Amino acid sequence: MTRNHWHVNAREHISFPALDRDISVDFAIIGAGFTGLSAALHAATSGMRVAVVDANHVGFGGSGRNVGLVNAGLWLPPDQICDALGQDAGQRLINRLSAAPDDVFELIKTYDIQCDAHRNGTIHLAHSKDGLADLERRNAQWNARGVKTQVLSRDEVEKRVASSCYHGGLHDPRAGVIQPYDYVRGLARAAASHGVDVFEHTEFRSASHAQDIWHVTTNGGTIRAKYLLNATNAYGPLFGGATVPKTSYVYYFQMVSDRIPEDIAQDLLRNREGCWDTAMIMTSFRMTRDNRLVFGAMGNANGAHGAIHRIWARREMQRIFPQLRGVGLGDYWSGRIAMTPSKIPTILSRDHCSSVFGYSGRGIAPGTALGKDIALHYASDGTYEVSVPISDSYEEAFCDVKSAYYETGASMIHTVS
Ligand SMILES: Cc1cc2nc3c(=O)[nH]c(=O)nc-3n(C[C@H](O)[C@H](O)[C@H](O)COP(=O)(O)OP(=O)(O)OC[C@H]3O[C@@H](n4cnc5c(N)ncnc54)[C@H](O)[C@@H]3O)c2cc1C
Repeated sequence: MTRNHWHVNAREHISFPALDRDISVDFAIIGAGFTGLSAALHAATSGMRVAVVDANHVGFGGSGRNVGLVNAGLWLPPDQICDALGQDAGQRLINRLSAAPDDVFELIKTYDIQCDAHRNGTIHLAHSKDGLADLERRNAQWNARGVKTQVLSRDEVEKRVASSCYHGGLHDPRAGVIQPYDYVRGLARAAASHGVDVFEHTEFRSASHAQDIWHVTTNGGTIRAKYLLNATNAYGPLFGGATVPKTSYVYYFQMVSDRIPEDIAQDLLRNREGCWDTAMIMTSFRMTRDNRLVFGAMGNANGAHGAIHRIWARREMQRIFPQLRGVGLGDYWSGRIAMTPSKIPTILSRDHCSSVFGYSGRGIAPGTALGKDIALHYASDGTYEVSVPISDSYEEAFCDVKSAYYETGASMIHTVS
């Protein structure tokens, strides 16, 4: 059935009221995901008065739906980031996001967030010989920057992943795995403990800027603030005065297995590393604390082609792990990932209003880091520099056509493979 395993099995229990009055703060934030809540927490600890509104609930968007792979860097290999941004700006972003998993795991420790955090690295798996060549190139680029990623042979992968399907893998020791919904809810709890006002079921309607103050209207009350952040990402866009990014997006779905018998589970992902592969229509898997495999891939399991994706996932899990014969895949859910053509996150900014979006599938560490950077930027009145170059406009043509193309491509691959 369609049910998000992370939501059903959450350990961080929080809830917040809807906004029902007019308030004044220093910093208003729209969207209670990793980006908005990290910004809120760091702004509050820097002395700002902060309010966060979410049209739904904390973690409703990508932050409560994702795989939970806390990866360093971006989707793009580091050399390509430098090619796109130039050597200095590129390397600056790489350095910031290389350290971003530290931000995540430190917050988890500081606020004792109950999100099953394991920091044993993640493994990017080569689904083909070309995939392995790509991983070797990535490894060389990271090693040249002093990062100790490591290429694993087919045999080494088989020892850690208990599957003979892969040509090798790339282990990244900076990375780890979390229960993402618990992490985002833990961030909300931490932010509230520093005085942040979080409002759920409070929908942004419009914003106007006059005399250096933003006037934000919601379905409840209004908010006056000097600074405004649009952190709605793939669950936006926002209209009515705030910066309005529209991007293309891909769907990604996950299914959760029955409990796996202990003797099989302990060898399946021996170090509990989270994994994903090099295929163009990517697959991922990781274990839960109660020995279930969360198996995911590109595609919308809740959409028109949902049955195709779900049937394929059952078949594919058995192909990768024949030892799971008889173990079913049951609950499923899907989420939207905002893509930018460059695959590099974008920050738009004008009049003390920012939008940050387009993590292109890698948002746990980047969302946490960039939310923090934006907060420090505003708290320091612009002295603290954000590590992504700031733009004043963003336009992407044919967003809907591209989004439909991604979903059709995933459905076709899942029909024939
Ligand atoms: C299925 C899936 C798997 C993924 N796996 C990984 C992974 O393993 N590792 C990784 O690093 N990244 C992963 N990602 C990407 C990552 O989850 C996202 O990049 C990240 O969650 C974005 O966080 P955010 O805070 O910017 O936005 P979101 O978490 O999407 O939050 C946006 C919020 O804005 C709210 N909102 C929208 N409109 C309004 C409005 N008008 N008024 C008020 N609120 C509004 C929504 O309710 C939502 O809660 C995955 C994404 C998906 C969907």
